[in-house]
Amino acid sequence: MQIETIAVHAGKPIDPTTGAVMPPIHLSTTFERNADGSYPSGFSYIRSDNPTRRALEVALGALDGGVAAATFGSGMAAIMAVFQSLRTGDHVIIPDDIYFGTGKLVRELFGPWGLHHSAVDMTDLAAVQAAVRPQTKLIWTETPSNPLLKITDVAAVAAIAHANGALCACDSTWPTPMLQRTLELGADFAVHATTKYLGGHSDVLGGAVITNAENDFWNRLLMIQRTGGAVPSPFDCWLTLRGIRTLPYRMRAHCENAKQVAHFLAKHPKVAVVHYPGLATHPGHAVAAKQMRDFGGMLSFQVKGDDKHSGMENALRVANQTKIFTQATSLGGVESLIEHRFSVEGPNTKTPDNLLRVSVGLEHPDDLIADLEQALAATVA
Ligand code: PLP
Repeated sequence: MQIETIAVHAGKPIDPTTGAVMPPIHLSTTFERNADGSYPSGFSYIRSDNPTRRALEVALGALDGGVAAATFGSGMAAIMAVFQSLRTGDHVIIPDDIYFGTGKLVRELFGPWGLHHSAVDMTDLAAVQAAVRPQTKLIWTETPSNPLLKITDVAAVAAIAHANGALCACDSTWPTPMLQRTLELGADFAVHATTKYLGGHSDVLGGAVITNAENDFWNRLLMIQRTGGAVPSPFDCWLTLRGIRTLPYRMRAHCENAKQVAHFLAKHPKVAVVHYPGLATHPGHAVAAKQMRDFGGMLSFQVKGDDKHSGMENALRVANQTKIFTQATSLGGVESLIEHRFSVEGPNTKTPDNLLRVSVGLEHPDDLIADLEQALAATVA
């Protein structure tokens, strides 16, 4: 089946008791046992499993073409469960451009815990290979990366991981299963912050890991999910499922709008550089064209300085001048957002201080372009 059909139907059996076409939200925390102590429904307690979460996990597994999925209370909880499934003394390789929270987690939480890491430019396959150690158990990728939209060749990095006895995970939050078949490319795990495009409406927090195989690593991850308990509520699962139904069509429009915005910005005299893999000038364009169905709804751009203001000052002024783009963090909702990442990530970040990250929403692209045009005209000399 095509992904549009999967998105509409996966995890949505007709409710056997009522015939409801749309699944109910099961809020019950506990489920009745038989006289012999068994659980006739297959459910025992909400933290271990529940019908609404299972429906979401079935849908996510089907969307990514995996064999199983585990959901979490946030994208970070899902990411944390993958790293927690490793052991003290293990080594992981992560990208040098990575979602700020993931980098912080690896450095500040798992570093003291005893997990070693190397941060490398994943667009350089020789650098990935050179970073492999005998203790390397996982290569973590994120493509397109946040916030510089670097493109990692997932198949090539997964091959390096497997040749060295390691696993490969990919944070596919930005492309979603619609644009990138992460598991088919060879990764062992696709990881998503469902908070973003899968939920799709900026009103629900969640995360997921989808696997290619139900192996020992996966069983440990499930144990962490169920015992650690960083699980989503039934209502959050239901909202995320609701978002998934329209994912393919929302992604089409996000991609089309982002393409138009990127081309507009690329020609603008006050913009120093646009990071969007759909532009032929982007260094990762060829790999993105090979491994992605389209180039996504996210982009970032760097604003030039002038006689009166630095590039950073101008970037902040542009973000303050937009009327349709809201200056806020996050991404993947129907509304367009613009954010100065440097001031969120702090002085030690590698993110350029004149960079604005944009989540292109579902408004009309002409309105979005006009908004950026007036913001740039009003603020940059
Ligand atoms: N991964 C990526 C690529 C993200 O952009 C984000 C959040 O922006 C996360 C993970 C974290 O997700 P959450 O906020 O749901 O924990």
